[in-house]
Amino acid sequence: MMLNVSSISEYVYCPLKVYLRQSEGHNIQTPAMLRGRMVHEVRRGFEELLKRNLWSINEEMNAKTIFEILMEDVAEFVDKTLLKYCEKESMDPKSAETISRKLKDDFEVESWLMAVKVWKIISNRPKSGSDIADMFFPPVLLEFTIENNELNLRGKIDRIEIMDGYYYPVEVKSGLPPVKGVWKSDSLQIAAYALLMEEEFNREVSVGFIDYMGSCQRRPVFMEVNLREEVLNVLEEMRMMFHEGVVPEMVQNPKKCSKCEYSEICEYSTN
Ligand code: SF4
Repeated sequence: MMLNVSSISEYVYCPLKVYLRQSEGHNIQTPAMLRGRMVHEVRRGFEELLKRNLWSINEEMNAKTIFEILMEDVAEFVDKTLLKYCEKESMDPKSAETISRKLKDDFEVESWLMAVKVWKIISNRPKSGSDIADMFFPPVLLEFTIENNELNLRGKIDRIEIMDGYYYPVEVKSGLPPVKGVWKSDSLQIAAYALLMEEEFNREVSVGFIDYMGSCQRRPVFMEVNLREEVLNVLEEMRMMFHEGVVPEMVQNPKKCSKCEYSEICEYSTN
């Protein structure tokens, strides 16, 4: 069975979760997962709209006009996507409404910040809309899937940004970052993507990024030797678990079990 990079964070939370889902076929989708998927899709669409709207900017414009152009079609797109999730994925309309408000607020703030930066740039030196779009959005590969038989690993990378011939994996998270650095599971996920990319593109990946959209922050993950070793160890443990049925020793954690979607079917649950 090929391992999936997205299972690493679940494994770090509790190895049994991954085991129950992948080996026993219990694929439980929680409302939180559905929300995460939807926010991901809306954010991707928002970025596409920003890129498109930047092309209409010219040096005559002030920051307010630039903001209005950046926000063109954004609210309609958010509503349309949320409606799709309510109709096709049975998302609770009340929860969709709350998310819609929050996303629109976030997008307004982000568009304002971008509008002010764009206005400063074009006030100093006139540039075309396409030049500005290139400045803010470097070449990128979106949702790029890599499979590697030697690593026995597969991953779908949110974004691969390419700058000056270097490739950087970027994972987009809807939540908040820790006070410093990134969450452990996030660093392992980036490290696994970096391993896949190094094999795929035959070039070293020395750093990746996590975009925490809950606080509009990008945090780096450096591919240090320790992190490489750690992710290889986790992958080896996962392999042992799936292929030889060796579930690593774990300390039961009532806090985790109380939030776990498998608590009703898991025999180790403390609930
Ligand atoms: S219920 Fe507890 S022990 Fe079972 S999978 Fe969930 S977190 Fe792990």
